[in-house]
Amino acid sequence: RMVSAAPASPAEEAIERALRPKLLQEYVGQARTREQLEIFIGAAAKRGDALDHVLLFGPPGLGKTTLSHIIAHELGVNLRQTSGPVLEKPKDLAALLTNLERNDVLFIDEIHRLSPVVEEILYPALEDYQIDIMIGEGPAARSIKLDLQPFTLVGATTRAGMLTNPLRDRFGIVARLEFYTPEELARIVGRSAGLLGVPMDEGGGAEIARRSRGTPRIANRLLRRVRDYAEVKGSGRITPDIAQKALAMLDVDPQGFDLMDRKLLEAVVHRFDGGPVGLDNIAASIGEEPGTIEDVIEPYLIQQGYLQRTPRGRVATLAAWRHLGVSPPAAAGG
Ligand code: ADP
Repeated sequence: RMVSAAPASPAEEAIERALRPKLLQEYVGQARTREQLEIFIGAAAKRGDALDHVLLFGPPGLGKTTLSHIIAHELGVNLRQTSGPVLEKPKDLAALLTNLERNDVLFIDEIHRLSPVVEEILYPALEDYQIDIMIGEGPAARSIKLDLQPFTLVGATTRAGMLTNPLRDRFGIVARLEFYTPEELARIVGRSAGLLGVPMDEGGGAEIARRSRGTPRIANRLLRRVRDYAEVKGSGRITPDIAQKALAMLDVDPQGFDLMDRKLLEAVVHRFDGGPVGLDNIAASIGEEPGTIEDVIEPYLIQQGYLQRTPRGRVATLAAWRHLGVSPPAAAGG
C-alpha cells in the first residue's frame, strides 16, 4: 500500500535515514513549530538545562521522527529511540531511563500505545527525574527510588486525543505537525533527488510534490518509484511527462489520491448516499481498520475538503461527488 503508516522495509528505512535532514534549518515547512523549537532549544542550551518534554502529533510520515533526531542533534546530546508497543514491562522503560546521560533525548514513537503500568513509572520520571522500581518478589518485595539524569522526552503520536490526560499534561511543548504544501514538498523532493543523484526537471519534481498527499514520506517514496520508471521507460531523467505517466501507473490520481482514498470516497458516495455514515460502517465496507482510516486515510481527505466529520458521521462534500464524476443529489453537503 502506498499510504502505509510506517516505512515499508529495512531498505526503505535506510533510505529514509539517509534523506533525513539533520539541522533545524534544513527542516522544510512547519514554520511555527520550527520557530518555537529554535527558541526553546536555544534557551535550554544556554542554561545547560534539559529541554522541556516535547509532544509531536500528526499523521504518519510528516516528520516526527526526523524532528526528534534534529532536537537531539541541535542540543548536542544522545538520542535513544523506542516505541510504545515495544516497552512491554516497566523494567524495559526503567532500563532505558537509567542509561540516559545528562540532558539526553528519549524518543518514544506511538506513545499512545504505552501500557498503563509502563505509563505509571513515566510520570515521576518526567516530573522529578526519579523512578520507583520494585526489588525482589512476594512479601520481601520493596520499592526503591532511583534518581535519573535530567532528560527530555519527545513523544510522537498520530492523534493527541488518544493520550491520557495525565500524560498529556506533562509535556511542556506540544506541536501539531501540518500537511505540507506542494511548494514545500517540491523542495523536499528536489533535495532528495540531489542526494540520490537523480536528474530531475523542476516540473517533474512539482508533479511528484502535488501528488504526495501533503506527506514527505510519500513524496520521497514516489520519487524513487518514478526514478525506476524513468530508468526503464525513459532516459533516466524525471521530466513532467515521465512523472505523470509513472504516477498514473502507480494509481495516484491527479488530485494525489491513491486507491484507498478513492475507495473510501466511493464507499461514502455510492454505498451510503454521501453520508452521514459511521466510521465502523465505512471500515467494514472497504475492508480497512477504523484506526487506519482515522489516522492515515481521512485526515488528508478532510484537510483537502472532500470529507467532513460531523456528529452523525462522515459526509462526502460536493468536491468528492465531483471528483468521482457523479452529480450530487440536490441536498448533498458541501
Ligand atoms: P514520522 O515520524 O512523522 O512518521 P519521519 O520523520 O520518519 O515521519 O519522516 C519520513 C521521511 O520524510 C523522512 O525520511 C524524512 O527525510 C522526510 N521528511 C519528513 N519531514 C521533513 C521535512 N520537514 N523536511 C525534509 N524532509 C522531511
